[in-house]
Amino acid sequence: MQNVLKRYFGYASFRPLQEEIIRSVLAGRDVVVLMPTGGGKSLCYQVPALMREGTAVVVSPLISLMKDQVEGLQANGIPAAALNSMNDEAENVRVRTACLRGDVKLLYISPERLMLEIPYLIRDMRVSLFAIDEAHCISQWGHDFRPEYAQLGLLRQTFPGVPIVALTATADRLTREDIQKQLRLSDPEVFVSSFDRPNLSLDVRRGYQKKDKDRAILSLIARHGDDCGIIYCMSKKTTESVADMLCGHGIMAAAYHAGLPPEVRERVQDDFIHDRLQVVCATVAFGMGIDKSNVRFVIHYNLPKSIEGFYQEIGRAGRDGLPSETVLFYSLGDLVQLSRFAQESGQREINMEKLRRMQEYAESDVCRRRILLNYFGEHTDKDCGNCDVCKNPPQRFDGTVLAQKALSAIVRTDGQASARVVTDILRGNFSPEVLKGHYEALKTFGVGRDVPARDWQDYLMQMLQNGLFEIAYDEGNHLKLTDAGRQVLYKGKEVRLAVIRREEKQPPRRGRKAAGPVVASTLFSGRQDARPAASAPRRQELFEALRALRKQLADAQGFPPYIVMSDKVLQNLCEACPTTVEEFGTVSGIGDFKKQKYGKDFVEVIKRFV
Ligand code: ADP
Ligand code: ZN
Repeated sequence: MQNVLKRYFGYASFRPLQEEIIRSVLAGRDVVVLMPTGGGKSLCYQVPALMREGTAVVVSPLISLMKDQVEGLQANGIPAAALNSMNDEAENVRVRTACLRGDVKLLYISPERLMLEIPYLIRDMRVSLFAIDEAHCISQWGHDFRPEYAQLGLLRQTFPGVPIVALTATADRLTREDIQKQLRLSDPEVFVSSFDRPNLSLDVRRGYQKKDKDRAILSLIARHGDDCGIIYCMSKKTTESVADMLCGHGIMAAAYHAGLPPEVRERVQDDFIHDRLQVVCATVAFGMGIDKSNVRFVIHYNLPKSIEGFYQEIGRAGRDGLPSETVLFYSLGDLVQLSRFAQESGQREINMEKLRRMQEYAESDVCRRRILLNYFGEHTDKDCGNCDVCKNPPQRFDGTVLAQKALSAIVRTDGQASARVVTDILRGNFSPEVLKGHYEALKTFGVGRDVPARDWQDYLMQMLQNGLFEIAYDEGNHLKLTDAGRQVLYKGKEVRLAVIRREEKQPPRRGRKAAGPVVASTLFSGRQDARPAASAPRRQELFEALRALRKQLADAQGFPPYIVMSDKVLQNLCEACPTTVEEFGTVSGIGDFKKQKYGKDFVEVIKRFV
């Protein structure tokens, strides 16, 4: 096992559970693997596939996922192939012949195709194991149910003696149990790894308005140099306006949503995978089928509907295990809108509950990672040190008077005003709604002029969370005082509010690089273990040089750059600075094949820096 790991994948040791899982498969058992995205699921069936005789058949729901896996394996010199509708007939004939001859170690196939091929190809081949990737697609409980997966239940009976490995990143218990049941696995061994992704930083910014968000995003991207990222937005329109804003600042960005023609969507996805686009501004339609390992940041421009969705989306960052950044913008407007959607949806109770849990995360006073892990049933008593709460604990102040002003405005409008109108009243704005309700005559008109509107929005959100008023979603989102609110307004009960923080720095403009210092990847900033071989700034230059070489080699072969080498491997190279092909081959992530194929080119560049 160790030999295969080193020789083909260039890794010195297994990650937690990988070794146990592989042993179990080699012993011929059925296995269920639950690991988060980036946890290293693929090796759990790829290593046994290389060690057992015959061909491993891997079921995968999407052609793009198959393509990625096959290219990745081939890039390591492993004979892998895919059978799918994208191949032409000649290609399919070639793949089948190779499979029958036993020349293919891993065959990727869609579930419907597998069913068609069972009586012909699969029966005549020597199958070493079945791997069911994205196995949650078989369960109606999951979020990605695919009817074609249902037929996979036949496999167990049809191929006795061939182990089945089911893999998924979906953690919840119902789905997990359903997978075993639907696949009719015989006494499977179930492996559940931690769903923590310690390399993802967690950050929530509250009460930002559009301008603040844009500024924060530009400054984050500037900090990241050429690194790639995804910005998730609630609406199609927002994906487009954010992409336009970024393009206006010289950033290679594009929008992605279900309303675009398929060829445009495909091109955006492809450009992103090949590092031709830096940022994709997308709705939740984007992501499944993206195995790109060097996504360095994921931003949520709007509040997501549920923690499941949120965790899956941020999970697309940092698959290579390197530090990656996630930011969630949280605002009252989003909360109101999502609550309305949830109220109007068919599953009102469930969706409201999911939104409440999401809100809890966004408003948490304790380590955010603990909230997330807790949600997935993992309990820890340690703070993570990599979320905004841990790094910068929220400060509170006595906000009683502030709250009373707002509550008083709510009462004086007889519960007929929305948060925006209440803000107008507090700020003393003669807006059309204010004039229509004659609110300019109220005693509270203008009493909150000293507080910016965006801060009022945030304080109102906090007050909502404290239960001081409710929002009548079925009645124009009007605010209604609650008993708790009356306690504050009439009895002077104390309210503690969180201090609002904002990042006010003006980001540098891009597109005129010569004017300022070249910004490189953030991967090196703050690292203290720089070796004399290449000091930090030097190392950044080396990293950029290696990244450029990787792009050149990738383009020449039509591969995405991360298939040639992940960011992690580039970083390993910057640390080890190998100057011979032999040394190059000892770097983690470089197997025999890549050593032979790329060693000379990389060593040549590295030598210039040492
Ligand atoms: P998943 O399918 O669970 O999302 P992958 O199988 O794509 O994750 O693995 C994520 C990354 O981790 C890949 O870059 C992979 O090469 C790397 N990886 C997996 N196992 C190991 C290991 N034992 N040592 C080092 N890197 C590993
Ligand atoms: Zn934390």
